[in-house]
Amino acid sequence: VNRLSVHYGVGGNLFGKGGVLKAVDDISLEIPRGSFFGLVGESGSGKTTLGRAILKAAPISEGEVYYKDEDVDYDVGKLSKSELKDYRKRTQLIFQDPYAALSPRMTVRDIIAEPLEVMKLTKNRAETDERVREIAAKCRLNLEHLRRFPHAFSGGQRQRISIARALVCQPKFLVADESVAALDVSIQADILNLLKSLQKEMDITFLFISHDLSVVAHTCDVVAVMYLGAIVEMAPSRELFTAPKHPYTKALLSAIPSLDPDDRGKAQKLEGEIPSPLNKPSGCRFHTRCPMAAARCSVDAPVWREHSPSHFTACHFAE
Ligand code: SF4
Repeated sequence: VNRLSVHYGVGGNLFGKGGVLKAVDDISLEIPRGSFFGLVGESGSGKTTLGRAILKAAPISEGEVYYKDEDVDYDVGKLSKSELKDYRKRTQLIFQDPYAALSPRMTVRDIIAEPLEVMKLTKNRAETDERVREIAAKCRLNLEHLRRFPHAFSGGQRQRISIARALVCQPKFLVADESVAALDVSIQADILNLLKSLQKEMDITFLFISHDLSVVAHTCDVVAVMYLGAIVEMAPSRELFTAPKHPYTKALLSAIPSLDPDDRGKAQKLEGEIPSPLNKPSGCRFHTRCPMAAARCSVDAPVWREHSPSHFTACHFAE
């Protein structure tokens, strides 16, 4: 992803005039093949828009997205019709809400088979059925499950159906957007373990989007933290969690409940709401909520720098 921006024009209304909403603002990052890449931030930070722009499901206003595999090298903003069809097959999205994502009128078999049929990837029904059974088994769904309708399943089982549907075309790159947020903690672990094992088995690269740092902690290889349309810190997961440099990352980490009695009461509460992306603060975009903000922070935008190998952040006082 090279200097990617996604802007939307917003019309005025009774409460104010319109403007340009910079949902994603000049972001660059590289998601290595085979990685489980975490993207974290509060709601409204732009992480879903970034994931969708990479999938060409949101407009690319500026910058480029490149997709490279052994046999293709795509500039995603300039795909021809046939390349776009191929890109749709290689990339998939697992939706946020397992309750809303599945049609109540279709059997589980038909839900999983639909992408194969829409993209005409199989020759006949027998081949479709075989592909559906194969991916269902990988997602721990049996033949009896395939005959039923979604309402007969729990949240965790529904998410496994969504995952099977996303994987049936054998994609190489998957965006999982808040895929466990609606589930109980014990079910979350089950789904995360399933995604990890499928990643290895099917050689998939993941972009895992979450508002919850504790969820990505044990799952992702690299984590990028997003705030108000920009990435403010990015590092290998272990390093981000043990030696965070940006005050925003520190605040998010300190809010994770700890079992250690010495840690209790140390949570850094972030004051105020995330500002409107229509009216971003000057200088450092985090200065209105930063517990470390100094006078220069409201004037000078901090530069994105590599502080140690593969550990990047944008803060004047990261050291
Ligand atoms: Fe906080 Fe200033 Fe660093 Fe921004 S540049 S994160 S306001 S200390």
